[in-house]
Amino acid sequence: MKTRLWTVDKNNVDNICCPQLEEAAKLLQQHEVVAFPTETVYGLGADATSDEAVDKIFKAKGRPSDNPLIVHIGDVKQVDSIASHIPIKAAKVIDAFWPGPLTVILPKKDYVSVKVTAGLDTVAVRMPSHPVALALLKKVSLPIAAPSANLSGKPSPTHGQHVMKDLEGRISGIVDGGATGVGVESTVLDCTEDIPVILRPGGVTKSQLEAVIGEVKIDQALLDNNQAPKSPGMKYTHYAPDAPLIIVQGTEDFLQQQILKYQNEGKKVGVLTTVENKGVYQADAVIVCGERSSLETVASELYSTLRSFNEYEVDVILSESFPEDGVGQAIMNRLVKAAGHQFIIQ
Ligand code: AMP
Ligand code: MG
Repeated sequence: MKTRLWTVDKNNVDNICCPQLEEAAKLLQQHEVVAFPTETVYGLGADATSDEAVDKIFKAKGRPSDNPLIVHIGDVKQVDSIASHIPIKAAKVIDAFWPGPLTVILPKKDYVSVKVTAGLDTVAVRMPSHPVALALLKKVSLPIAAPSANLSGKPSPTHGQHVMKDLEGRISGIVDGGATGVGVESTVLDCTEDIPVILRPGGVTKSQLEAVIGEVKIDQALLDNNQAPKSPGMKYTHYAPDAPLIIVQGTEDFLQQQILKYQNEGKKVGVLTTVENKGVYQADAVIVCGERSSLETVASELYSTLRSFNEYEVDVILSESFPEDGVGQAIMNRLVKAAGHQFIIQ
């Protein structure tokens, strides 16, 4: 399959007549699969009302079919055709955080394909804030199912080139709008419970949600790794670079000792650190992922950093650990999954 590539300047999206988006929208309406940028990561979109179109997403990504998809909309009003009921707290967070990196789980209507909801009686919905995503969704005028536009198991794509690398030849088109921004996926909030539950930490933090709706819980499975997660996608290995990743909790000296230990075993060692510790480590590849003093920058660069280790062909990656405050919760959630829960603790 030939994959079309359209480059769109996110600062200059003309809603009326951007010809690239016109073509992309037409392909989506014809049940084809098209990747597009959002403010979190690139999404792999298809008409959420069509079984045939949604099937193509699962095939292109190699995604297990029991892992439901998030439905993306370009207009808040569309939520009424997708959800059977909007609880009051859901309405409040929608009002406060849409468009933006928050997905709400709502009781579903039988409008989107059952393949989107993977047999659940709920549906995940989000209105993204990225100007290219919004313009495209408005042009299509259909709810668009869109998981992250990576091969299943790989780090999510935060640049058009990441999508190209994973999915060229497997999908009909890619709208390249440059780097995404937030860099980690949306927060998934189950609004079907009296006290809403965070099923996946993301761009909107627990305290931001609590400021709007009061108490919010965190899915027990996120705190306790032995529990079956309620959000089906959270049980799969995710975000992994080619080499094994291990999170090191301890001082810089301790991390340096671990580097030497692996090098003595003849291994090429990569280190994930931040600007603050740029010159601290002696390893085969030391990659800087944002600034520790601004965790938003770490989130924004996390996936491209994980991908970049593949180019250095290291045998093992040792990562610094991050505090689980604010967006740090999403960073550690993704890092721990990428590491398959492997830690070295001082
Ligand atoms: P992705 O599309 O890769 O960003 O992943 C979407 C996430 O939302 C996965 O973790 C899914 O399991 C989760 N999700 C989607 N729909 C639902 C739902 N109805 N109930 C619970 N989690 C959901
Ligand atoms: Mg994903």
